[in-house]
Amino acid sequence: MAKIILAGFKGSMGQKALKMIADTPEFDLVGVYSPSADQSAASYGLAEEVAVFNQLDQIKLAADIWLDFTTPSAVYQNTRFAIEHGLHPVVGTTGLSDEQEQELIELSQKQGLGGLIAPNFGLSAVLLMQFVQKAAQYFPDVEIIEMHHEDKKDAPSGTALMTAKMIDEVRPEHEQGHSKETLAGVRGGDYHGIRVHAVRLPGYIAHEEVLFGGPGEGLTIRQDSFDRASFMQGVKLAINKVSQLHELTIGLEKIL
Ligand code: NAP
Repeated sequence: MAKIILAGFKGSMGQKALKMIADTPEFDLVGVYSPSADQSAASYGLAEEVAVFNQLDQIKLAADIWLDFTTPSAVYQNTRFAIEHGLHPVVGTTGLSDEQEQELIELSQKQGLGGLIAPNFGLSAVLLMQFVQKAAQYFPDVEIIEMHHEDKKDAPSGTALMTAKMIDEVRPEHEQGHSKETLAGVRGGDYHGIRVHAVRLPGYIAHEEVLFGGPGEGLTIRQDSFDRASFMQGVKLAINKVSQLHELTIGLEKIL
């Protein structure tokens, strides 16, 4: 039985995670955390024995897993807290910098503690990244368009950034197209010459399109997450596998 503390339980992803945990007999929710939580577990529709926390340093609870769907500004501190307290972090929150990720990996290595940070728990997004990396070996000219709901706090999305990093691993760095802009920012962000465009629109959830162009041909690879429930299979897998890892690992594909 995996004992889980869920950080960000009141948010959109947190609510889906609560349902997934309740529907999974081998998972046991022992605590929830949100800075604005000020009511009893029962008033949030949780079992009475679930501990409700609104301060990180109040959390003193025997548990196995720290599941994090919070905000870019909180995720580093939360994940550090989890590792320092021997909780396997399973982190879906995006927005960690490369330096922060590296610090957390080193901390987990010192503790010999497994964990997973996945910018995307959706299978379609993980497959997109793998297909894209393969395609980039043959089509080095590429641009990424990510599309999300208008409340998303970070841009580009963690998935788009990871896609760019995976492309960057297999293609020589180069610029494509002219960079002169008569409207600032119109060519998008630049990750080692890979242009990344972030669209924010109501009605959208999480979508990504990667466009490749070559002489006389083009290739478009696209994935759509239409419902946040789609991420929960990946979260479940991560919770089940994370205790077998020996350090903090980045990307769901590493445990598939
Ligand atoms: P959301 O609806 O805004 O929920 C965020 C939650 O975090 C809120 O409940 C908020 O609490 C809480 N929070 C705010 N500050 C906090 C802090 N300092 N410490 C702990 N919790 C804090 O966002 P969401 O749509 O659920 O997304 C959450 C994160 O998951 C985002 O980074 C998003 O990009 C990411 N995401 C990842 C995946 C994936 O597959 N990896 C998929 C979708 C989204 P209050 O309600 O009290 O304000």
